[in-house]
Amino acid sequence: MADPAAPPQATATAVPPAFITDLTETGEIDWTDRKVKLFDMSFLGKRFGTNKDFPANGINKDLAQRLVRAQTALYALAYQDKVDDLAAAGQPAPAALTEAEFRVWCWTGQQPGDVNQVAQVDLHVGIKDKKNPNSKHASGSALDINVFANPYMPVRDGSGTLGGEIHSSPKDAAKKPIFDAPTLRKLHEDKLWRPAMVIFDRASMLYEGVPADLHPDLNGANAADMYKRFRTASYCIESYFRFAFNPVRSKINPLQKTFAEFKTEILNELSDGFIDPKAVHIDGTPLVPAISGPNPDPTLQAFYDQIVADYAFFKMPIVSGSVVIGADGSVSLPGNAQRDPCNAVFNVRQEVFMEMVKIQKLRWGGTMFGKDSGDTMHFDLNGHFIDGEQVPFKKT
Ligand SMILES: [Zn+2]
Repeated sequence: MADPAAPPQATATAVPPAFITDLTETGEIDWTDRKVKLFDMSFLGKRFGTNKDFPANGINKDLAQRLVRAQTALYALAYQDKVDDLAAAGQPAPAALTEAEFRVWCWTGQQPGDVNQVAQVDLHVGIKDKKNPNSKHASGSALDINVFANPYMPVRDGSGTLGGEIHSSPKDAAKKPIFDAPTLRKLHEDKLWRPAMVIFDRASMLYEGVPADLHPDLNGANAADMYKRFRTASYCIESYFRFAFNPVRSKINPLQKTFAEFKTEILNELSDGFIDPKAVHIDGTPLVPAISGPNPDPTLQAFYDQIVADYAFFKMPIVSGSVVIGADGSVSLPGNAQRDPCNAVFNVRQEVFMEMVKIQKLRWGGTMFGKDSGDTMHFDLNGHFIDGEQVPFKKT
């Protein structure tokens, strides 16, 4: 692969079609004491969903214009790919890509689907958070993409400090939070973030021989490094869970593989050289010698059982919605549909990420929120913008 810091430049002249450049004004919303016009658009071949709390949907013009610039560059890359493919078959350059072709290109290689299943990628989320006007979403200055495959997950800085999404404390009879902020944070560390990091590390050691590197980073110039670290961790965790489970949307039943299937797959990966010599078993001892010997089954059975337990747990640190915290400090999943650990935690194509973060200088929630980063679906203007100007947030 070429240097990911420098996206390849297209050489064919690709005039971007209307679906790349057109914005559709959907109406106006109130934000603090201001009015903001919102726009829907096709971005990466997908549109914005609606939100019942707002009369209009989409994003503000400042963000929309940056997305147009990002996907104009992406379109040129996608067009060049098609030109090259056709040239290899002795055919002339196409007039243009269709929106559907561009959509497939943008989501190729990403979960939850393969190129034939891009319809499974969610509509983008733009305007939301009516009750929290300081959210960048509330002024149309943020978007979430492919939300079901890009969770708000835990992160860990170089000194081991954990962070991530903070869920609400349960309330007492007087509607006062039962846990103060430090207690609530500690609860997240102990019950969600640290156990999730143990799983990230187990999966990362299995393939890479090093713990997962999921540290926050405010500097968008490091976009290539951010992408590589999070995508590597995501691939590792995806492969780890897929040893014992089929992805939910594959519609393969039963989802859980048998021990015999697991054993065949992991021993195949071992003999193919994919399992790192530094991989560790669940008790911290070296994994490879234990499963390379004449009697691998006890070790393999324990490893399989651990993946099964980890799969059930891992839905909580990548929750869709909010983890339910009990008055006794227990944590559980809410009742809505939950993410599939087999789809891992970061599913954005590299060229798309580089255009958004490095070139258009959007802030990525995955690393650029400070210590509570991990919001891999989220990109914003790092401020509230109206008509080309940054507007300070004012409580009304
Ligand atoms: Zn967001």
